[in-house]
Amino acid sequence: MTSINTAIQLLTREDAERSAATQGSTCSPDLARGPWEFDMPATPDQGPDYGPGASMLDTAPAATPRQGALPEEYRLADDAELEARILAAKETLGNRLVILGHFYQRDEVVKHADFVGDSFQLANAALTRPDAEAIVFCGVHFMAETADILSKPEQSVILPNLAAGCSMADMADADSVADCWEQLEELFGTEPDDAGRQPVIPVTYMNSSAALKAFCGRNGGIVCTSSNAATVLQWAFERGQRVLFFPDQHLGRNTAKAMGVSLNEMPMWNPRKVLGGNSEQELVDSRVILWHGFCSVHKRFTVNQIEKARAEYPGVRVIVHPECPMPVVDAADEAGSTDYIRKAIAAAAPGGTFAVGTEINMVNRLAAEFPQHTIFCLDPVICPCSTMYRIHPGYLAWVLEGLVAGEVRNQIVVEADVAAHARVALERMLAAKP
Ligand code: SF4
Repeated sequence: MTSINTAIQLLTREDAERSAATQGSTCSPDLARGPWEFDMPATPDQGPDYGPGASMLDTAPAATPRQGALPEEYRLADDAELEARILAAKETLGNRLVILGHFYQRDEVVKHADFVGDSFQLANAALTRPDAEAIVFCGVHFMAETADILSKPEQSVILPNLAAGCSMADMADADSVADCWEQLEELFGTEPDDAGRQPVIPVTYMNSSAALKAFCGRNGGIVCTSSNAATVLQWAFERGQRVLFFPDQHLGRNTAKAMGVSLNEMPMWNPRKVLGGNSEQELVDSRVILWHGFCSVHKRFTVNQIEKARAEYPGVRVIVHPECPMPVVDAADEAGSTDYIRKAIAAAAPGGTFAVGTEINMVNRLAAEFPQHTIFCLDPVICPCSTMYRIHPGYLAWVLEGLVAGEVRNQIVVEADVAAHARVALERMLAAKP
């Protein structure tokens, strides 16, 4: 199985013949470049960006951390040298270190992980290693924050590339959500109704900053994952007349629709408009107010791709992630979290054909792990999550060798007050039962 990184090199090398295995092209030839070329803007006035990949057109907020220069020895080292250096550092650090690798991470990095999973699985996996001094999170910024919130104070959580953010998480910043909340409080007041239900319960997807998780903790709200969104929404409906769901409109819409909430009861909140661009009556009649956020990776999937897969592979089982737009989820056979997708494929009788609507690194890894099935990505164009792609083996080697030298590089620290309130919202989620 060709790794995504190798496939991209093949596709973008001018003299390379197109590989049949990759069935198409990359979404950006820039993917063949090292992430450090994007971490260091050519001119100081060049704003932050996410670099090449599915979310390359998203604008990173000005406050997005910049990684800064990766020392040349790591930029110039080839794959074999970086691998040898990572392995040597791991060997030296032993149990003092735990490396977490997200499902969407490139193979060259994930092969070094002690645990591979989704963001919440990984934060929980770290809890099984309380003696590890350093938790190196090969994911994106909000994931490292969650790990820091849940880990012991003496443990350091490290994000190998500080510029590895998440474009979706960045679509809901704390100021915009606070502004929205103020407008909703003005409209609905703060008193519960006769049944004791609050006017609005804030619900944030795990893919959000620690500040927003803390906002939910402070305001009677809760966190959800793509695995437990329905359970969490039920929890919120029992305590509130309506829900403010951020940042992913698609997860909110798909989940609430499956629970019987009509589309008319789900207005969208555009943070750039007064009342989010809604009339007072639309908000009064709402059950779920959806934030105008989305994942650029999952937004790429279309109903056309599903129709094509069904035409080419009769009997194909189409499974998509609930971050995909509603028409795609409706046209698929099933929708579920990365964990759901993996378990569904693992449990299927041999000889199945699966068209999967989620990030390409994960789909290729599933295809390698379950050779008894035919597994392919719904989108034939190679386009990894550009923010996850920022974690190159060079950065991993750099932070690990820093630890060997006694230096903690790129530590992610969530302020104590923020962490305390975020923990409240996370604990509510853990206590919520279907
Ligand atoms: S796949 Fe989407 S939601 Fe996940 S980290 Fe990348 S941009 Fe964020």
